[in-house]
Amino acid sequence: MTAASETHAGTPAAPGPDDLIVVRGVNKYYGKLHALKDVNLTVKRGEVVVIIGPSGSGKSTLCRTINRLETISDGEILLDGQALPQEGKALAKLRAEVGMVFQSFNLFAHKTILENVTLGPVKVRGMAKDAADTLGRDLLERVGVESQVLKYPAQLSGGQQQRVAIARALAMEPKAILFDEPTSALDPEMINEVLDVMVDLAKKGMTMIVVTHEMGFARTAADRVVFMADGAIVEENTPEEFFNNPRSERAKDFLSKIL
Ligand code: ADP
Ligand code: MG
Repeated sequence: MTAASETHAGTPAAPGPDDLIVVRGVNKYYGKLHALKDVNLTVKRGEVVVIIGPSGSGKSTLCRTINRLETISDGEILLDGQALPQEGKALAKLRAEVGMVFQSFNLFAHKTILENVTLGPVKVRGMAKDAADTLGRDLLERVGVESQVLKYPAQLSGGQQQRVAIARALAMEPKAILFDEPTSALDPEMINEVLDVMVDLAKKGMTMIVVTHEMGFARTAADRVVFMADGAIVEENTPEEFFNNPRSERAKDFLSKIL
């Protein structure tokens, strides 16, 4: 077990300077449905945490609460030592510090690829348009879609659109990026071009939480695997330990179905 989960039983330790995301005693109800059950998770700066688990286990809900797209019923979430504000400008600022990449890309259909990437820096960060264009082109080159900058999202393949979504997240210079099943909507031949970009980000030290069913990515890129079932974190471990030596019946059962 990690230090983060050991603190669960006793008094929670104060977050250290390297604890970028701290989820502490979080519960979330949708009506009567207990979607997150006393979830504790600490993600350190530069760490890559892969979350896996069956459908409906609360993986998306956890990501969405970290970005405050969902409220929590109780507990607390700290971002770089600061509690997530409930609303207003302070929330917008903190939210801009955590990028999110969704299964369905969510690009602006009526904006060009370049505009999709520059909109945030101009509107939210107050960057000059020229500087944002330069940044946008650099980032689109980094994810390998620089030849598409003046096209519209529908003119790109799914894999290209998802790489644009990653560039758009990077344009905000986030402290961390949350990926919620970023390759699940892609045709198989496009999955690796997106995973390659993510592996590259991980190598460059980006802090990432990745919900995925891509076990190859989890094995090679994750520092830690978190297994969720029924709204709770059931176990967490290094990928090697988790895949070779799952401890809980739930994890063994899940792995036997997908591997
Ligand atoms: P996962 O991403 O692991 O598949 P989710 O976090 O999407 O799981 O969902 C966890 C549980 O919460 C599921 O039972 C789901 O039906 C429920 N749920 C998710 N979002 C909502 C919502 N907006 N309103 C009500 N129930 C929801
Ligand atoms: Mg989900």
